[in-house]
This record gives sequence, C-alpha cells and structure tokens, in this order.
Amino acid sequence: MTESTSSTASPLSFELITTEGRARRGRVTTPHGQINTPAFMPVGTRATVKGLMPRDLAETGAEICLANTYHLHVAPGDDVVKKLGGLHTMMAWDKPILTDSGGFQVFSLPKLKMDEEGVSFNYKKSGKPIKLTPERSMLIQNNLGADIIMAFDVCVPFPCDYRPAQEAVYRTKRWLERCKAAHKREDQALFGIVQGSTYPDLRALSAQLTAEIDLPGYAIGGVSVGEGHQLMMEVVDATEPLMPKHKPRYLMGVGYPEDLVEAVARGVDMFDCVLPSRYGRSGVLFTRRGPIRVTKGKYKKDKYPVDTQCTCYGCQNFSRGYINHLLNSREILGSTLGTLHNITFYQDLMRAMRTAIEEGTFESFRKAFLDEYLSDDKKDDLNLHFNPAEITRDDLSWDTEHSIVPTKQDLRETKSAGTNKTQPSSQKSPSNKASSSEQPKKHKKSRKHYEKRSKNKPK
Ligand SMILES: [Zn+2]
Repeated sequence: MTESTSSTASPLSFELITTEGRARRGRVTTPHGQINTPAFMPVGTRATVKGLMPRDLAETGAEICLANTYHLHVAPGDDVVKKLGGLHTMMAWDKPILTDSGGFQVFSLPKLKMDEEGVSFNYKKSGKPIKLTPERSMLIQNNLGADIIMAFDVCVPFPCDYRPAQEAVYRTKRWLERCKAAHKREDQALFGIVQGSTYPDLRALSAQLTAEIDLPGYAIGGVSVGEGHQLMMEVVDATEPLMPKHKPRYLMGVGYPEDLVEAVARGVDMFDCVLPSRYGRSGVLFTRRGPIRVTKGKYKKDKYPVDTQCTCYGCQNFSRGYINHLLNSREILGSTLGTLHNITFYQDLMRAMRTAIEEGTFESFRKAFLDEYLSDDKKDDLNLHFNPAEITRDDLSWDTEHSIVPTKQDLRETKSAGTNKTQPSSQKSPSNKASSSEQPKKHKKSRKHYEKRSKNKPK
C-alpha cells in the first residue's frame, strides 16, 4: 500500500509504506537524503550534538539531526552560519537537518512581550532587545539552510487557561500564513505546528486550521511542557486523526522511550528530544530493562557493558565500571560514551519499531517492550499494565535475553558457574529473522558470560 505525496514544488515528499493499526511505517525524502520513519532526531542545539563527532552520530543510525534557531541566531549568528556555507557544510553533516523556529526557547525567556507582530525580549547575555517575528524566524532559518524548517508559533505554558490557549491557536494560524508567505527557499520544507494546550477541542480546531494551509509536513507542538505522559497521549489522540494522512507528523520535544512507543502506536512519525544526550552526559543510561545511573557506587567494579545488546562503540569496548570512573572523574570521554550509547539506544528502538510495523507485530512489540522496560511502579504511574497472556516474547524484535543488568548475586554465580551455561537465546531471537528489512548491526564480541538472565533492574 505504498503511497507517496508531496506538496506543490515541495522539496520534501513522504511515502507511507505500511501501517498497523494507527502505527505508520514511512519514508521522508529530502534534498539531503531519506529518513525512515518512525524516526528519532537527536538535538544539536548549537549545531553540534554535544560531545559527538558527526561521523559518530551517523553511526548511531541517526538519519537526521536538529539545530536550534534561537541559539544559532545569538551565536555565531545566522549570517555567520550562512557565510560558513550553511549548517550542512559548517557541521560536516550531509544528512537531513531540521531547525526549530526559536519560538519554544523565546517563550521560555523572562520579560517577554508579545503582540500580533511578534515577540520582544532581551538577549540573555548582552541584554540587547530583539523582536522575533514569523518573518524574522523564516529569514534566520533560510540563512541556516536546514532541509526542514518550523513555523514560528505561539507556545503557551502548562497549565494554561482556556481563553489564552484559544487565542494562541488563532494567532498561531495567522503567524503560519505569514511564515509561508515569508519563506523564500525552495530547497527547504516548512512544517506547520498544531497548538491548543491540553484541550481536545482546541487541538482539533488547531489541527483543522493548520491543515487548511498546504504544507509538506505538520507537527504537534506545545507538548513535553510538564503535562506528563497521559495528558500528552490525550493530546495526540485529539490531534492525530485530523492531521493529513499522507504528510509526516512530528511530535515536538518528545521524549522518554515509553512516550515514543505510545506515540508511534498513535500514528506519529517523527520525534526529537534533548533527553538521551542530556541524560547521557550525566550518566543516566538507557537499557532494555530501564534506565540506570551508571555513576552510582554499585557500578564501580561492574565489568559488563551498559547494555549487553547494544551495538554502540562504548558497549562493544568498555565496562560500566570504566564509564563510572570516567564520569565521576569528569573526563570528557565519559560524557561522549554516555551520549553515544543513549542515542544508539533510541535509534535501535526506532529501528525495532519500524521492523515490527513492517512485519505486522508492532502491537505485540509495544506490549513486550514496555513490559520489559518499565518498572512496576512506573507502569502504575503511567497506567500501562498489560495482561501477561497478551505478551509474546517472540514478537519482541530485539533480544531482551541479552539485555542483562545483573545483580551482585548474578555476577558471583556467573563467576563460579564456569562452563555450565545455557543456550544463547540470540539463536532463537526474532531479531535474526531474515525477513526483516532493517537488521541491527552484528555484535562483534562473544556474549558467553552474559547468558544468565536477571529480571532485576538496578536504578
Ligand atoms: Zn551502548
């Protein structure tokens, strides 16, 4: 059921390859290459994902990255970026790039003044006054030169009263019309943004108003502002059915792995978030059995990789003990390895979801992943409990048997058990299915000593 559409003279097209329920497997084509969706876009705020070489970022499986309009306008200046050849040349990143509009950052600044024209504020460092308008945001983003640029919208805080949320919806629509008129470069695709706070009727209204303007893609904005997982999903539920089916949908600033899985189940195609890189730098690392804080004392002598199933350079070569030492000694390499691992984890998760949708096993994957990944108290918090009878491990298209986060007891047993091992479960893992179109990279290391399973998940 491959279907492809593009807007008139749009530099971007979207191909909806297949669906399972509301989950979508697609492909976005831009002037700098393709993005397989559902996709996660790592954030390079100042035109760099902190601590990572672009070649390392590409190795994580990332097919697109983000840069931040507000920060780059402040320094080095979008005119300087243009003189340095634009973002792709400056960053030596030849894959797609997306820039946000600057709205989200600007609306979080103190002493902000907004009128119909735009938003006035003072520069953080110099105190110099500046006004950001839809036209100015387009000019800045045209100078930066990303493949996908975002409309300048009105971001309301959470919680927000109904009336200002409603006014923001209408102003966002008016500003979107101005953005479209001001956008000059034919090699950049402008995405519109749906607002409406957490009010389902305003979300529906905003989705309709935004979709009236023909654009190559649409985003759900104003989420990830403290509303929590359940409200966020309610926002997606209220918005997604009214978004154009044959255009990519981008949920902005989201999120935790459980948010990504649940939003993919609701028909979202693209995500971005600072979380994996920010957490990675501080030593909160994702594993298939939930996040661990690797800087804790209990990991000091831990000889296991962060996640034994992970394909990243860090997990192939280093122990948790070494990363614990690096981060606690404030060595730069610790932050680099943490970031590399976390972004690889997110890319592996997206790849696993894409494969599951292709194979028609996404619903089972979703349940099995969340059951494995979330702790019981987190399942309570998020109201995500599953009937064990509904969970088929064979549908988990990555191998949790190897995602061991062992206890001290496990480590002692493994040490004394010698050769008394069980059959490596990867041999029966569905991740080795030949039918899968996107196979994870092969592991380079022997995993004999990771075979013993543990359900325990250190925090
Ligand atoms: Zn890793």
